[in-house]
Amino acid sequence: MELYELGIKAAQEGLAKGDFTSEELTQAVIDRYHAADGKIGAYLTFDEEGALRLARENPKSVPIAIKDLINVNGQPCTCASKILKGYVSPYDATVIRNMKANGFIPAGRVNMDEFAMGSSTENSGLGVTRNPHDLSRVPGGSSGGSAAAVGGNLCIAALGTDTGGSIRQPASFCGCVGVKPSYGRVSRYGVTAFASSLDQVGPMTKSVEDAAILLKALAGHDAMDGTTPDVPVPDYAAALEGATLKGVRLGLPKEYFDVSGLDPEVRRITEAAIRACEAAGAELVEVSLPHTEYAMAVYYIIAPAEASANLARFDGVRYGHRSDKATDVYSLYTKSRAEGFGPEVKRRIIMGTYVLSSGYYDAYYGRAQKVRTLVTRDFVEAFEKVDAIVSPCAPTPAFKFGENQDPLTMYLNDLYTIPSALAGVCAASVPAGLTEGTRLPVGVQFICGGFEEERLLRICKAYEDSNN
Ligand code: GLN
Repeated sequence: MELYELGIKAAQEGLAKGDFTSEELTQAVIDRYHAADGKIGAYLTFDEEGALRLARENPKSVPIAIKDLINVNGQPCTCASKILKGYVSPYDATVIRNMKANGFIPAGRVNMDEFAMGSSTENSGLGVTRNPHDLSRVPGGSSGGSAAAVGGNLCIAALGTDTGGSIRQPASFCGCVGVKPSYGRVSRYGVTAFASSLDQVGPMTKSVEDAAILLKALAGHDAMDGTTPDVPVPDYAAALEGATLKGVRLGLPKEYFDVSGLDPEVRRITEAAIRACEAAGAELVEVSLPHTEYAMAVYYIIAPAEASANLARFDGVRYGHRSDKATDVYSLYTKSRAEGFGPEVKRRIIMGTYVLSSGYYDAYYGRAQKVRTLVTRDFVEAFEKVDAIVSPCAPTPAFKFGENQDPLTMYLNDLYTIPSALAGVCAASVPAGLTEGTRLPVGVQFICGGFEEERLLRICKAYEDSNN
């Protein structure tokens, strides 16, 4: 096995035994990046010298690829947007500080949909990322670079972010494990905000155990992010010991299987995963999440509303691109933004500004907040009956470039990931199998209640074991 193929656990064991150094491991990832990333395009930039220096300074550390919206001191942070081209971070995000304190170093910055808006990485303003399992297909998004880097063995593991599915859906498309932690479990200080009531950072890895190790390193209270409660972070990896599905009550939401757009191969693989859980001792229980049909509409009001406010700071004055065609301060704002943002980001800002405008605020934003409460309540009620929910992760396997041209069909990709994001609970995608013929990876999704990552990871691990 080559060093770049290792996951976190195996890398840590090799480092501990002295089989190789962190510098050698990091160099192996860099060599692999030079050899194989030309075709895939997972990375936007790679500060090789910086990564090797950190590896020498931290001899037992494991290199991690970073989604390009997380600030690392001295490195570019573009959010795959032309408006932030040339921007260099003046500080480390809390997740980066936490990682460094726990034996990880940032190594390379990976592509994404611009400002994390999208489901295919086709909205990147800076480059194309291909699915390592089929170069004619997208890697998913918005954490498509992270998923392609993990799935293509271009890194040991990666950080992604999930607002409405952006860790889970690309993990499903590229055959890796992706965990969206509960809202508030991981600090967002230093992570460029998209929709602040939804955004979470999480691990994208080659195994459930790796996700547990990395999540432990990321999570915890942060005085710089008021949404992170001061509750202890369990030793997630230790909790995997003896993980079993015996006696676990798994909820099957009836609304999730009654979907016309559900691809037959995804349905087949998901049903096989559910049967495997049952064979491993889980009890299957039908549950109902009755407000599922409204979740998409609610998300596409709340997320753009928050984005329109968050992205107001990119005005050509303080960060990144500044138009040279401006004649006064107003045209400096409008021209810089018109030149810097791509079409999907503009669409979201326009939608968000509209739903927040006076006269429409109550009808759209106010109502969406009320319906969000109903969606959240669905989960609270379901988790009174079951330990976890199991479902498809994305309605289809990875699709071809250009196949989902219309924004609405692209939005439908997040059908299964948006409701749990709105509810703030934790959820993960675990590889479940390959489609027939096309041999594309498909992930199955497990969802648990808020701050129940230990339970979630145990269930994921037990499923992963049953599947191997
Ligand atoms: N695809 C969804 C969107 O475009 C979710 C993105 C995300 O989770 N960052 O908003």
